[in-house]
Amino acid sequence: MWSEEAAVIQESGRDLTELSAIGPFTANFISRWLKDRPEVPAPPPIRDGFITYASAREVTRAHAEWVGAAKADHQMHTDETDGSSTIDEMAEAARALGRERIAITDHSRTLRITNGMDEARLAAQGDRIDAVNARGAAPWVLKGIEMDVTPEGAGDMEPAVLARLDLVLGAFHSKLRLRDDQTERYFRALANPDIQVLAHPRGRVYNFRTGLVCDWDRVARRASETGTVLEIDAYPDRQDLDIERLRIVAAEGAWISIGTDAHSPGELAFLEIGIAAAILAGVPRERVLNLLSNRAFAERVGLVRAAKAAKISERGTNRVAGGKRERIDTTPGKSGGSRFVRREAGGRFSTDQTSAGRSVAQDKRVKAKNAAPKGMKDRGD
Ligand SMILES: [Zn+2]
Repeated sequence: MWSEEAAVIQESGRDLTELSAIGPFTANFISRWLKDRPEVPAPPPIRDGFITYASAREVTRAHAEWVGAAKADHQMHTDETDGSSTIDEMAEAARALGRERIAITDHSRTLRITNGMDEARLAAQGDRIDAVNARGAAPWVLKGIEMDVTPEGAGDMEPAVLARLDLVLGAFHSKLRLRDDQTERYFRALANPDIQVLAHPRGRVYNFRTGLVCDWDRVARRASETGTVLEIDAYPDRQDLDIERLRIVAAEGAWISIGTDAHSPGELAFLEIGIAAAILAGVPRERVLNLLSNRAFAERVGLVRAAKAAKISERGTNRVAGGKRERIDTTPGKSGGSRFVRREAGGRFSTDQTSAGRSVAQDKRVKAKNAAPKGMKDRGD
């Protein structure tokens, strides 16, 4: 996350202790390594395919034609869920970085660990965003959400409420350690009519989780066909999609959205990591949401919505591909949660299964096992 490479600082005769978290002891090690470079082993898959913030800055500096991409940031969180700061604080920090459009995309209800919002809280947040926008100062603050998407492709919020938002991100936050092919799972999520952007598509986290496996050629093609935009989550230890997959996306013609997934104002600067990834992968600028003006952006989101709605009515299927959500406990005053019910032949719904065909208790145990280590809670899963 350093803004300059250690080698550059050393070459220019400056002290390595300028770098954050580096004291004299570590500086001495780095200095010796730079003079007499040890052989560096190739990183294991769990740490492979990440770029440094310093190198990302060099890439963006060399590509002035991409400067407009830094005007928009399409994913960030506030203290409404697991972020540290208010809408105002995020908007103020974004303005200082030259952003003209930011999307507030806090978590939806299922993600309890992040204090995910229900429809009422989302609406209240929308009123606060209106108040910020009413002041007329840049950036334009979009009403958005990072909605949890089940492995069956279902969201956990009312479609009518989602339809009033400026941008809906959908993201997988569970069963991210499965090792078998998840192509069909991606297809189901991409078909969800309420989602315009599939956020951090692989679900990988540096040195923690390698992410889902699928046939990326087919998934990228399906994204292009459905109009669903694929995200570059620029958070330094996500970088998801990564450069290798982005090359496939570029070839298949899908659109890209770049967001920092910032949970505090200081993380907004990392947008450059996402922009650099798009540049290095050869993503065409015409298919990057961030490069659209505010007006063109709103039009594009409208187009994606309309195209997906048309597809649904054409097929005449349920809004949720292959099933519907159902409340587990309908006792008044009880939260109870909800479960996904698969649609069976003849249009009947089987009610004897939770989202994974497992019991709720077992789901909880699996969730506990897959919980991020301490200090990673703020990353949203
Ligand atoms: Zn997320």
